[in-house]
Amino acid sequence: MTGRATKKLILILIDGLTPSMLEDTLERGVAPALGLLAEHGRYRRAITTFPSLTPVCLSALATGAHPDVHEVPHLVWYHRGERRLVEYGSSFGAVRAAGTKQSLIDTVYSLNASHLGSGAVTVYEALEDAGLTAAAINITCYRGRHAHRPTVPFLTRPAYGPSRFFFYNLFQSDVTGAPLSVRNRPRGTIDAYAAAVGRWLVTRDGFDFLVFYLSDYDYASHAQGPDAAHAALARCDDAVGALIEAAGGADEFLERYAVILCSDHGQTPVSEVARLQDAFPDALVTASNRAGMIYTDDDPAILARRLDGNPAVDAVLWRDSERFFARRGGADGDVSQLDHPDGPVRAAAALANPNAGELIVSAAAGWEFADLAGRHHAGGGSHGSLLTGDSEIPMLVVGLDVLPASIVEVMPAVLDHFAVPAPPYARTLTKA
Ligand SMILES: [Zn+2]
Repeated sequence: MTGRATKKLILILIDGLTPSMLEDTLERGVAPALGLLAEHGRYRRAITTFPSLTPVCLSALATGAHPDVHEVPHLVWYHRGERRLVEYGSSFGAVRAAGTKQSLIDTVYSLNASHLGSGAVTVYEALEDAGLTAAAINITCYRGRHAHRPTVPFLTRPAYGPSRFFFYNLFQSDVTGAPLSVRNRPRGTIDAYAAAVGRWLVTRDGFDFLVFYLSDYDYASHAQGPDAAHAALARCDDAVGALIEAAGGADEFLERYAVILCSDHGQTPVSEVARLQDAFPDALVTASNRAGMIYTDDDPAILARRLDGNPAVDAVLWRDSERFFARRGGADGDVSQLDHPDGPVRAAAALANPNAGELIVSAAAGWEFADLAGRHHAGGGSHGSLLTGDSEIPMLVVGLDVLPASIVEVMPAVLDHFAVPAPPYARTLTKA
């Protein structure tokens, strides 16, 4: 520890917030809380992981690793060991198709208890092993060392999270009086719950590191399309404002806390839907949003050609024992030729995940792949691909030496702030 000079740190995570939406909102001066942070901080656009979908991205954020290490491959995937689908919640229909109870167990427990790679270290584990107190509100990647008993009768097992752990009323390490979260999602009740818990924690100064996860923005953005969910972002601003107010005002808040504000992925408009299953009736396909996986015993290099000329597809990826390949525009190449942001690294890491399909498909602009139940967001927004709009995230830091360029640099930046050593797989940070 570097002693009393180290401020506490809050990671504010707004699901699906695009850089352009944040930049425009700040420019217009209509978000006072976010504006305060921007005024005192440093900002850049950063890049998330691939597939750019929430469970994959939040696992990257919490572990500082791409999926080659954290091993969560997609929103929906095939579990080879258990010979079954894992569906974290593409849509209500997809959850029903995969089995509602199993989906709930996978999302609430298994993602952290067994899917998240044992070689990965979470930010909560690293900080609390160093004697600090970590707190997490609603983030689905929460693995820690403290057992928390569920607060509802339909769950029976404890979940292992950081010492201060709040997860949609299902687990609550402390009694905060926060309202029930899942009442009216379109009106932002989940974030209202997060704000109430956050206010409670800040009032008590009850953490060294807090993940304050606001998930309702992505929900609104899927329905309304990217850069249109102004009311949802205004509610995020209110939620951040509630933390500032709980600290006693702007000066007191900035005196006490350093801040990282970012999102987990971008969002792009979609108007067309493809069923990836149609091209692979002989294989197992897991598709959702703008990424798909094909699980097969056939030669992936040959199967990849089936998507030649398919307007829904931008890139098809596969690997052999030595190399990572990408097929684009009807031509085979190495992933090193991908010109997407951080493309070669992200494509190789997705393929090196032992839970990935033999083929990974990244969607073309404007297209979405229907999920298990045929659901999609055509007419709204989506994400998941390697393309820039899905992959760019806003990154704002206040009171931190490091301005992360990638989502996988956030966890090591947090550890660096507290002078806790990063895991060996983490990227070396550039200080400015
Ligand atoms: Zn989303």
